[in-house]
Amino acid sequence: VTSQLPVFRKAVQYKDTVALTDQHGDHTYGHIHRLSGHLAWIMQDMLGKESAQERVAFLCPNDVSYVITLWAAWMAGHVAVPLSPKHPSSELEYFVQDSEASIIVTTSELTVKIKPILSGQQVIVLEDFFFKPSTSQEGEEVQIMPESNITMADNHQVEYGKENEFYSVSDALIIYTSGTTGRPKGVVLTHNNVLSQMSCLLQAWDWTSGDTILHCLPLHHTHGIINALLSPLYVGARIVMLTHFVASAVWSKLLALDTPIQSRVNLFMAVPTIYAKLIEEYDTKLIKNTRMKEYIKSVCTQNIRLMVSGSAALPEPILERWHQITGHILLERYGMTEIGMALSNPLKGIRKPGFVGNPLPSVEVCIGKFLPGSEKYEVLCCGNTQGTEVMSEGNSTESGELLVRGPNVFKEYWKKPQETLKEFTHDAWFKTGDTAQYIDGAYKILGRTSVDIIKSGGFKISALDVERHLLSHPNISDVAVVGIPDITWGQKVAAAVVWSGEETILDPQELRKWGQERMPHYQVPSVIVSLTEALPRNNMGKINKKQILKMFFS
Ligand code: ATP
Ligand code: MG
Repeated sequence: VTSQLPVFRKAVQYKDTVALTDQHGDHTYGHIHRLSGHLAWIMQDMLGKESAQERVAFLCPNDVSYVITLWAAWMAGHVAVPLSPKHPSSELEYFVQDSEASIIVTTSELTVKIKPILSGQQVIVLEDFFFKPSTSQEGEEVQIMPESNITMADNHQVEYGKENEFYSVSDALIIYTSGTTGRPKGVVLTHNNVLSQMSCLLQAWDWTSGDTILHCLPLHHTHGIINALLSPLYVGARIVMLTHFVASAVWSKLLALDTPIQSRVNLFMAVPTIYAKLIEEYDTKLIKNTRMKEYIKSVCTQNIRLMVSGSAALPEPILERWHQITGHILLERYGMTEIGMALSNPLKGIRKPGFVGNPLPSVEVCIGKFLPGSEKYEVLCCGNTQGTEVMSEGNSTESGELLVRGPNVFKEYWKKPQETLKEFTHDAWFKTGDTAQYIDGAYKILGRTSVDIIKSGGFKISALDVERHLLSHPNISDVAVVGIPDITWGQKVAAAVVWSGEETILDPQELRKWGQERMPHYQVPSVIVSLTEALPRNNMGKINKKQILKMFFS
């Protein structure tokens, strides 16, 4: 039986259309589909035709080989486990062992990272299987499997949706979380989850097959995989992919320098630190005169229809500066590995700075106040979007835990049944661990309940709010705010401040005075550490607050 996952639908329909442009050139949907089929066939050959739901770990560069491997794993009925070349060997070893991978797919250049961690492990390594079908070493055409033989494995658990559409409740992906608050957890997403996570974005952001997205994000996190890679592939759009983020390269793509008209990008997604680096590049290298500024702004406004920010809170100075430079108000959205995207500012309509908008289609969002003792939540606010209409119940602006429910929500933490159970309420809401507030028709993220919510003298302070205020100081380039224990107040607000230059450093007293004029008195940090070096951030630009506490305040 040949079954077709919805993710491949466009691969067939848009056979001759370019799906992806990378350092090797243009790749059509048909070409990628055929090579994936070939690799799927090799996988089946190695693991046995009857095998199903084995984990296929893969360490590939950010180019077409990544898509081929991901699709191949799915065609063969297996679970894809994306790894990153940026991970140190110890992390790679953990992911391969934890996921109990049967196969690792990689390239000859990246094998050096894999080989040292494999001693004693029963893993098949497949190296450089991506391009073999098109040309042999002698340059001859090599026999590849006829397309008719490329069948989906017969081992997907299936369900049929409303209109007899094929859905699969089999596992599709294990994505490891960013590890911001502890050891990364393997998040198991079913094909159904992936489908629903893509569908709500396609609907909310009006994706079409005419879109071209510039992709420069890591490919082992939900942002890079689901939002910026699988969503465009699902709609038949085109991806221009960079192997790494390089500010100058991103600018030249955004400005369409030496780019044929059909591969000009009209969509861009990034994390706040990437936008900060692009601004720095603009200020230091790109602009030479006013005419240049006008040119950059007009190209960005004419060519690009949407620029998105997420994965961490977007500081307002970045939002404002990006608007000045490109004419675009960044669309900030909120999501996490376990749920994909849940909240988004509107495509059309007002994007409120510091807010993350409203629930995406088919995602239910609720703010709950935990009632100790009863193990229940009092609902402070609850909303979902049907079509474009936002429906909300409850009108409390009190902050509480953000809870999410819907077909987007993951199946389980890999091999962690207890943790999985702990993270859901009895009525199937997933507890995000983030604190949020609903004010004037939009949701606001106050931060992670465990590290960003500071309780001081009876006040509940959001570290993200304090960071937002401090970042509006012209000489502060980065900041991390944490709560430190205090006998009198319970906790004290502490800030590690990165100044933009040595001559601009204010002493703590002066900075506090500046703060007192601009923020509520209880938010003003009482402990300030000045830094000239960068704050430690992971490769999604996130700060590990526990590490900050240890480094600067212990
Ligand atoms: P770990 O779970 O391993 O500690 P992580 O939570 O950073 O890592 P991800 O799933 O990649 O791993 O990130 C999700 C988290 O990122 C959310 O729970 C939230 O704290 C934060 N986040 C995402 N988007 C935003 C946003 N727009 N504003 C504020 N925080 C955001
Ligand atoms: Mg998390």
